[in-house]
Formats: sequence, structure tokens, C-alpha cells
Amino acid sequence: MTKSYDYIIAGAGCAGLSLLMRMMKDPFFSQKNILVVDASGKNQNDRTWCFWEKEPDIFEPIVHHRWNALDFFSETYSGELSIRPYSYKMIQGLEFYNYVKSAAESHSNIHWLKETIVSLAPAAKGADGKALAGIVLQDRSIYAEYLFNSILFEPIRPEAHQYHLLQHFKGWTIQTEQPCFDPGKAIFMDFRVGQEHGATFMYLLPTSATTALVEYTLFTADLLNQESYDTALKQYISEYLHITQYEIVHKEFGIIPMTNALVPKTEGAVVYIGIAGGQVKASSGYAFRFIQKRTAAIADALKKGKPIPVKAGFAAAKGLLYDSTLLHVLHHRKMAGSDIFARIFRQNRASDVLAFLDNESSLLTDLKIMSSVPTAVFLPAALQELKHLL
Ligand SMILES: Cc1cc2nc3c(=O)[nH]c(=O)nc-3n(C[C@H](O)[C@H](O)[C@H](O)COP(=O)(O)OP(=O)(O)OC[C@H]3O[C@@H](n4cnc5c(N)ncnc54)[C@H](O)[C@@H]3O)c2cc1C
Repeated sequence: MTKSYDYIIAGAGCAGLSLLMRMMKDPFFSQKNILVVDASGKNQNDRTWCFWEKEPDIFEPIVHHRWNALDFFSETYSGELSIRPYSYKMIQGLEFYNYVKSAAESHSNIHWLKETIVSLAPAAKGADGKALAGIVLQDRSIYAEYLFNSILFEPIRPEAHQYHLLQHFKGWTIQTEQPCFDPGKAIFMDFRVGQEHGATFMYLLPTSATTALVEYTLFTADLLNQESYDTALKQYISEYLHITQYEIVHKEFGIIPMTNALVPKTEGAVVYIGIAGGQVKASSGYAFRFIQKRTAAIADALKKGKPIPVKAGFAAAKGLLYDSTLLHVLHHRKMAGSDIFARIFRQNRASDVLAFLDNESSLLTDLKIMSSVPTAVFLPAALQELKHLL
């Protein structure tokens, strides 16, 4: 088999383009022939990414808005979350895609293909005996030394003892005539909405005094019908935001898998990235920062000629145990999500909780956070999950 490229990036979404951007920033990769393949032209503003960060990273120039203060609301605890040294940041999908595409224009080693990938090609070997990986298109296959794949060809299939909840959400960007919002403060979670389906909250991201994204989010096994999301949004905007006159200028809908099912990180010369590489935090649905850390580690390994890291370190392994425990409690409805998050935010510094959600907290901080939820509920769940993980 002959390789046509050094690297193929399959899927030009968050993970594929994050990896590409990191490669473009390092002269080591300027000698590499890189093919980026996506079925879509990536010209829709199809998602908004929010994440928290202490230090600016490579996408800092396109941060659309940032907040240094966040509010939390629930029936049992409400308060302002002190998130320093973190900032909560928003990047818009279309700005992200355009930023990377326009940076790539000056790199003649980067090639684009707008085509549907049918499947991954069977593993092959080059003339030098080295492993190659490839993609199957409608009428041909293309091979490379490495294939970075962010396409989920099959849904993730959890085993019987694993969990698979969905984080599903509908968001409206609304515009008002009169100033209604404080663009310096966002609502991270507002659980004062019906909890009949499972853990359910709103969040509010104001980007000016007259514009905000309001999003209705649920962690449940099944989706709702579209009308239910709309009804909940309308009701929240009028009852809690006290806004009656507004225009909906943009809508987004998303589903993110929240699962402790393990997916392979690599298979031969195929390296899985993004959601396909398991980079969603199972207990929160946040993926953007995990994708950044993973793509940085991949670029670093390639540059140093080292194998792509596959082993979960201690931090990731304990993160998986905590995630599995929370999914266990939510799946079996042993305690309401609103109560869990309210206790955690009431009893801990918000910056510690954010570090915990990033798998970056110390063991001591983890113990403190875990002691804020009832041992009688969480300990048996954790022991059961530990048995499956060992
Ligand atoms: C609406 C929405 C909002 C989100 N908000 C946040 C957030 O605020 N914070 C956060 O941390 N995470 C968020 N996430 C989760 C996660 O960050 C995103 O899903 C992220 O885009 C995942 O990156 P990815 O590269 O794995 O997948 P994608 O970005 O979806 O990229 C996959 C790419 O593969 C392409 N593709 C798929 N099938 C084929 C095929 N057969 N052939 C060719 N191309 C194909 C697609 O066109 C797409 O470009 C959100 C997810 C959604 C859906």
C-alpha cells in the first residue's frame, strides 16, 4: 500500500481543527503533508463552546465573550460562584471554523476534501513495512502514516454495567430592546425548573445588556419532543428573567453522550480524537478543554517521535471513577442532580469544583468535594463502580 499523505484528519470539527491548529503553530509539521476530510463545509454556526481556563490557550483570539462571575441557583442553595483564577469563556462554532480555515490558507502542505467518509480502511502496511491507516470514500481509499479520526461511525455501545445518559439541550439567543442582562455575569446552572425528567437546568450566557443565550439542559436517558424544550425556555424567560418582549435570533440544539463506556484511544495507526476518542467528561458533558489537552499531547508526541499516549494517568483514572459514580447515582435516581450540585457548590470553593470537573484537583480537594454529598448514597455506588473498573 502507498501512503498519499503523512496525516489524515478525518472530521474537521472541534477535535480535528484543534489538532490542525496545533500542527500549524509548530514548524515541525510544515514538512508534513496533511489531508483534512469532512462531509460538511463547516460554514454554519452550529454550536457554542463554553469552558473555563486559567491561562489563555491557542483559541484566545476568538474568545467571543468571557465572564469572571457565575451564579448558581437551586431550590436549596443559590449563590455567586467565585471562580478565580478561572475565566468562563465562550467561542462560537463558526468563528472557530473560519479562524482555523483562514490560518490554513497560508499552509501549502494542508489539503482539504469535502467528502463523506464511508468507513475506516482496513489496516495496511507501507513498502517499508510501517503501519498505515486509511479512509474509505465512495470510490477510493486514501492512506497515511497516521489517521486522526473524530468520526463516530457507530454509536458508543456501553456494556451492561456501564451507563449512557444523554446531555441534551436547546438554546435560544434572544435579543431585547431594553437592557435586561448583566454581560459581566453568567448563570452556570439554574435548577429552579421542573426536575420531573431527571437532572434539568437552565443556563444563561449574556454577551451584552440586550443579548443572551439561554439554554435548557437535561441529563436523562431519553430526549424530549421539541415542543417541550420550547415551552420550558418560554416559561423560564418570562418567570425567572421577567422578560416578555424579545426576539429569538439564533437557535441551537445538541446531544452529547454522557457515558463511562470506554472507547479505544488508538488502533494501529488510527488515533481517535474528540468524542470518538472519549474526550467528553462523562459527568458534565464538557469536552472542549479535554479536546485541547488531548490534541496538544498528540502534537507533542508526534514532534518528539514518541508513541501517542494511550494509558489513562492517575488523574484520568480517578476522574473515571468519580464520573461512573455520579452516572450510577443519576441513572438509578438515588439522589436528585439538583441536590447533588447544590451541596457541592454550597460547601466548596467553585474554583475547586471546576478543577475537579477538569480532572485537575488534588486528592485532598476530591475528598472534600466528595464529603459534601451523602456517604450513604455515594459510597456504595463508588464501591460498585470501582469493582467494574479494576
Ligand atoms: C450544540 C453543541 C454544543 C456544545 N457545547 C459545548 C460546550 O459549551 N462546552 C464543551 O466543552 N463541549 C460542548 N459540546 C460538546 C463537544 O465539545 C462538541 O460536541 C465538539 O464539537 C466535539 O468535537 P468532535 O471533534 O469530537 O466532534 P465534531 O465537532 O462534531 O466534529 C466531527 C466532524 O466529523 C464530520 N463528519 C461526521 N461524519 C462524517 C463522515 N461520515 N464523513 C465525513 N465527515 C464526517 C462532521 O461534519 C464534523 O465536522 C457541545 C456539543 C454540541 C453538539
